[in-house]
Amino acid sequence: MANDQYVFQNPVTRFESITPDEQDQPEPATDAELTPKADHGEESYRGTGRLTGRRALITGADSGIGAAVAIAFAREGAHIAMSYLESEQKDANRIAGYLQDAGATVVQIPGDISDRAFANELVSRAVEGLGGLDILVNNAGKQIFRESLEELPDDQFDETFKVNVYAMFWITKAALPHLPAGSTIINTTSIEAYQPAPILVDYASTKATINAFTKGLSQQLAPKGIRVNAVAPGPIWTPLQVSDGQPKDALPEFGKSTPLGRAGQPTELAPAYVFLASPESSYVIGETLNVNGGMPTP
Ligand code: NAD
Ligand code: MG
Repeated sequence: MANDQYVFQNPVTRFESITPDEQDQPEPATDAELTPKADHGEESYRGTGRLTGRRALITGADSGIGAAVAIAFAREGAHIAMSYLESEQKDANRIAGYLQDAGATVVQIPGDISDRAFANELVSRAVEGLGGLDILVNNAGKQIFRESLEELPDDQFDETFKVNVYAMFWITKAALPHLPAGSTIINTTSIEAYQPAPILVDYASTKATINAFTKGLSQQLAPKGIRVNAVAPGPIWTPLQVSDGQPKDALPEFGKSTPLGRAGQPTELAPAYVFLASPESSYVIGETLNVNGGMPTP
């Protein structure tokens, strides 16, 4: 790779400081319709064998952070089960192509993880398709801004908790019997867990819950040799933001208030997940790796 993640360079200018147009997509927004394009490491992520032969289930693997993690894992030698919604098939197919090019076995499992029965089926099909499982990345997420609590519908509150929290619980519970010692679970939380935006009360609450779930479960599973950790992204340019993840007029400024002065690209998250998935992080448990352009966290 000509410009891979190991090239010494200035993080301020490694990626362009984008000024996205105000744009709208119905949920779930797709990468295919996103402008400017997000960078998932297609042309840059270089693997060095850190996950050779591993078997990973990644939710939300069709786009954004999950897609970047999938590409990185495949190039590190892992086989991948991809979870995403049926309407995201086009994005999923594009990412699957990169995984196959890297030599990975790819299992595509579209469906709605807020449905408990499907969450269980997802794990069964991943285990069957990959011949086992030793990495679980709970990354799918729902984020819809609302200016006031009065405007936050009950069904949105419910659905945000279903996708971000319940699905993580169901999928993790279903996966546990299949995970051998050495396995790793990585949950995607957010800077919103520590700095909740006034317009993301429901979403931020799910992310704080994910942090507590991660830290509690990590202690429970450590004696079994299963490590649980989390990654907390800051503002990352992904489809989530254009399906009312943010107000339209906030999109041009997205990420510019970070100390780095720009939004992050999905591929900048990937090395954090690779580190936590790999045996090299054997003594790292219940940790939250913040990847947020420099915003202070507790
Ligand atoms: P994204 O839209 O690319 O990914 C979210 C994915 O969630 C979708 O691709 C979709 O496949 C999946 N999903 C949503 N509802 C689902 C459902 N009911 N069933 C199955 N799959 C479903 O956006 P992203 O920003 O890459 O989001 C990935 C994770 O990162 C989310 O958990 C999000 O909360 C978190 N995060 C994102 C940012 C950011 O700035 N983009 C910041 C902090 C945390
Ligand atoms: Mg998507």
